Amino acid sequence: MVERSFDVVVVGSGAGGGTVAKELAPLCRQGLRVAVLEWGPKLRESEFTGREIEMADRLYFDGGGVLTRDGAMTLAFARAYGGSTMVYTGTSLPLPEAVVRRWNVPGIEFDDISRRSAKYLAENNVHLLEDERINDNNRLFAAACRRLGFRVEQFPVNVKGCRGAGVCNLGCPNAAKQGTNRVQLPAAEAAGVEVVTNCRVERIGERECFATVANPGFGELSRWEPGEYRIRARAIVVAAGAVNSPALLLRSRLPLRLPALGRYFTAHPALILVGEHDRPISNFHGHPKSYYCDHFAASHGFLLETCMYFPFVTAKNLIGFGAEHAELMRRMDRMQMILVLATDPALPDNRVTVGRDGAPIVSYRFTDGVLDALVASQRAAARIFFAAGCTRVHAPAGASFFIGADQAGRLDELIARRHFRLGTVSISSAHLMGGCRMGSDPATSVTDAWGKVHGVPWLFVADASLFPAAAEINPYVTIMALADRAAERVRARIAELPA
Ligand SMILES: Cc1cc2nc3c(=O)[nH]c(=O)nc-3n(C[C@H](O)[C@H](O)[C@H](O)COP(=O)(O)OP(=O)(O)OC[C@H]3O[C@@H](n4cnc5c(N)ncnc54)[C@H](O)[C@@H]3O)c2cc1C
Repeated sequence: MVERSFDVVVVGSGAGGGTVAKELAPLCRQGLRVAVLEWGPKLRESEFTGREIEMADRLYFDGGGVLTRDGAMTLAFARAYGGSTMVYTGTSLPLPEAVVRRWNVPGIEFDDISRRSAKYLAENNVHLLEDERINDNNRLFAAACRRLGFRVEQFPVNVKGCRGAGVCNLGCPNAAKQGTNRVQLPAAEAAGVEVVTNCRVERIGERECFATVANPGFGELSRWEPGEYRIRARAIVVAAGAVNSPALLLRSRLPLRLPALGRYFTAHPALILVGEHDRPISNFHGHPKSYYCDHFAASHGFLLETCMYFPFVTAKNLIGFGAEHAELMRRMDRMQMILVLATDPALPDNRVTVGRDGAPIVSYRFTDGVLDALVASQRAAARIFFAAGCTRVHAPAGASFFIGADQAGRLDELIARRHFRLGTVSISSAHLMGGCRMGSDPATSVTDAWGKVHGVPWLFVADASLFPAAAEINPYVTIMALADRAAERVRARIAELPA
């Protein structure tokens, strides 16, 4: 086993880890050594082919389809230099004040989160796309929402030089999306932070990590030789994401038992809805996600967002198979698409555990409230499609594969909970949160409000697993704000931690 030693080790390089890496870079100027250990590869620019199956295999855990224990939901999260920011769409919303209030974590103030979020909105070039860059899929959604009196907003996005390839979720082939892979990690490396890719941390011991380096056969070679490593550090920051951070800590021997570890996992369960126009529309090219509707967020617990997925993901999300399925898929150029997301409650039994082999297992139970929200969201989406001029709509809770425009007056009857059966519908999640939640009580939380693990002065968490409950909006900006806090605390405490 090869031995290495650093002052700070960060595990993971996504929204949280990439942010921490950059914010710890000033330590390098003081002569301290900082490393980021990232399981995934750093792809070469030529390897971003935009091909769906190939990129899904290269960039995601289980191709983007990690199943929950009962198989009722798939979870999408990436394994790469930049983590899930490599595949996110880059919609950039700061946390609303009402959510901070609902979180009710002593020490987490709205003004502080807002100030830190604003820093990253500026750093990652977040802005509204010019009107001429909005495609039909998005334009039709916004116009229909306004026609129906639904509140609709344009998403700020973090692109620079977007050429509208439309494949944000397969890794931008034009280097336009400003994830941590483009902004924070290169800045950290330029300042002296060592980013080690293809390096999987197996477990954490007292001020040390045990890791394995193995190159997958694509991407740049790791800067460390393949093999087993024991890495000592004065401080360790875990930022492996809401599934892998709790799993890593559960595999590790911590000095304290933390009953909340792995628990209170939330996911914004989501469905893809499809409407069909009688003519081709621009949908595949252009930024896929320019508008959202939060009209029903407070009253019914769901959000509607524009989206445009790729053939395999789309086909997998349609319910049914055979002639109707094939017919709809052949008409992708006429498709309008909406993603609906439910706000789910943070429950102790929705949780990450680890199997005998140490791999994470996510147990997730849908509450009646979430199922009702998912059904109600399909009715709202169908209304939007018809108001936009669609001739027919496909909804997973629909009484039949297609609901025609002539049936638009009967949506409450045709889209109903009795047609929506878990296991036969394709529910997915790309917003994974919780598992190492912040709080002041070690019985119900894992870290304090600065991401420091209760009772362990050298161990921090800095990613989406910190969320005490769902963000209720797209989460990455908040993850960066929380990671910024954790980095600030590490910088302040490092001198006190024994070498
Ligand atoms: C398809 C998709 C679209 C999205 N779109 C948006 C959007 O538009 N707006 C938004 O706000 N959010 C979006 N998100 C969500 C957002 O990307 C994530 O919430 C965010 O990136 C999570 O940050 P994180 O630091 O918690 O984890 P990640 O960014 O997932 O990073 C975790 C990293 O840790 C690494 N890792 C895991 N285990 C280990 C280990 N044992 N050793 C070493 N490394 C490890 C992983 O390989 C990964 O690189 C999207 C997500 C997906 C999947």
